[in-house]
Amino acid sequence: MGAIIDISRGVRAGVQSAEGAVRAALDRVHKANHSLNALLACDADRALERARALDAARVAGHDPGPLAGVPLALKDNICTPFGITTCGSRILGTFASQYAAHVVERLEFAGAVIIGKTNLDEFAMGSSTENSAFSPTRNPWDLARVAGGSSGGSCAAVAARLVPGALGSDTGGSIRQPASFCGVTGLKPTYGRVSRFGLVAFGSSLDQIGPIAEDAGDVALLLKVIAGHDARDSTSVDVPVPDYLAALDRPLAGLRVGVSEEYFGEGLDSEVRRAVEVAIAELERGGAVVVPVHLPHMKYAIACYYIVATAEASSNLARFDGVHYGHRTENPRDFMDVYAASRGEAFGPEVKRRIMLGTYVLSSGYYDAYYLKALKVRTLIRRDFERAFEQVDVIASPVAPSPAFLVGEKAVDPLAMYLSDVYSVSANLAGIPAVSLPCGFTAAGLPIGMQLMGRMMDEGTLLAAAHQYQLRTDHHRQRPPAFAEL
Ligand code: GLN
Repeated sequence: MGAIIDISRGVRAGVQSAEGAVRAALDRVHKANHSLNALLACDADRALERARALDAARVAGHDPGPLAGVPLALKDNICTPFGITTCGSRILGTFASQYAAHVVERLEFAGAVIIGKTNLDEFAMGSSTENSAFSPTRNPWDLARVAGGSSGGSCAAVAARLVPGALGSDTGGSIRQPASFCGVTGLKPTYGRVSRFGLVAFGSSLDQIGPIAEDAGDVALLLKVIAGHDARDSTSVDVPVPDYLAALDRPLAGLRVGVSEEYFGEGLDSEVRRAVEVAIAELERGGAVVVPVHLPHMKYAIACYYIVATAEASSNLARFDGVHYGHRTENPRDFMDVYAASRGEAFGPEVKRRIMLGTYVLSSGYYDAYYLKALKVRTLIRRDFERAFEQVDVIASPVAPSPAFLVGEKAVDPLAMYLSDVYSVSANLAGIPAVSLPCGFTAAGLPIGMQLMGRMMDEGTLLAAAHQYQLRTDHHRQRPPAFAEL
């Protein structure tokens, strides 16, 4: 059983207090966050007050909810009506949201206690959390290495057990890649499964919020709480939310697992390849049937993603103009300079690069050659998956081509950084759900992740397969040695 289910059961049964669970998490944050920089902000007073209110409600005979007393941390691009929501950017360094994201309302209604906000690459653009304006997050397994990104803070916080669970956002791999680097379980739901209301937009046709926890059971419980229709996000899908926890018992027997050579090609680290192959063999031992599938357009996924994502980013980030929100330059020369200097001073280099790339691919004369072409390629990629899922129930692959790299190793080479998303972006382009789960370690002791991708709205099958795999293995139960005592 994962820590989330454990705490919520204990609190509901009255054998553990919400206040105790929250105090313990705050204490761990206090002891360990300075070495990780996983959390950017922590609101202890509010968290303790909420925990005490939950305990009082339970004593008075009210059900404190399915996440009763569970301390959680949220990526800092998810709006909270308390504290600040920085997006890891200086442009929003003091931004206080007036409203709560849909997921925040859902979590709090279910009895969860949000204790803080986690570090990320600026506006979720990056794969290492090094693009944060507030310093990188360190990997709990090796502090010289990155936690991955962009949800590096959320994944490092769960890996070091500062909190039992967290939310991240995933536009091209930002939940799954850091989950694999940190040895935790993370899910990118189907596009439309979780409302994006209150998530600061990066690539609106790709972004999804998703849960990160120690195991598939805890991820299933978090997803059950945050999924579902919300009229405030017009892309939110109005279909019932299944009981993901009840579905976890589905056995591996007969599950058809697709394996595509396109995910095991050039550039894949040999230790990662080996670990994922062994993990697929383990699924087979559990009764799954491995079926080769062909995804011929996957080789265009990175190019396609970096056109679609930057185009959408350049449009979404136009709202940060020095007038409506956030940073405004001190002494503008004229009216135009309010925009130019405010943006120039407060956006980091990667965000500027994306805005320029996106503006370029959308500009007249280049629109058809780049943006329109990328949309067509995106359709081909989606069709590849549709065809594959006629033959298989899930597709297994590595999450990332390498384990966690050193801080600074790829920071000066944007292309090398972009290539770390080579196995993750296609799920966002196609809109399908995908989970990252720990499947082994390198000789140097770094976690390795396996990705399972599924059919639209079929998170249940992914989580059941992940759970059955985790019943047979203990990679997900390992703790980073430096944080084992917390
Ligand atoms: N690393 C990818 C990028 O930089 C994905 C980021 C994300 O999923 N938010 O765009």
